[in-house]
Amino acid sequence: MITPIEPVVTQLRCPTCGAWQDISDVCRRCKCDLSLVVPLLRERQRLRQSCLAALHDGRYAQARSLALRCCTISRDADNLQLLALTELLTGQYAAALELMTSRE
Ligand SMILES: [Zn+2]
Repeated sequence: MITPIEPVVTQLRCPTCGAWQDISDVCRRCKCDLSLVVPLLRERQRLRQSCLAALHDGRYAQARSLALRCCTISRDADNLQLLALTELLTGQYAAALELMTSRE
């Protein structure tokens, strides 16, 4: 069985100063505490992997649920695209279209 994999996130952008850096609990530039951001980043990655695995196995309703959880962590373009795909595959065509045509 092929396991769907997406690249492991190894970098994060400091929400305070915008510096890109390796994942760390403290920003290398502004010394901002990132200890709350890092677990969210890892949870996002875990949920996305689970969502992709569910899509691969044809468990579309579960994939949609996981995509929604991803979007509660971050409504970034990748998560919105994943949610739109799951909406499409579960027959929620209007919701998929709305997600694909609107950008926040
Ligand atoms: Zn910073």
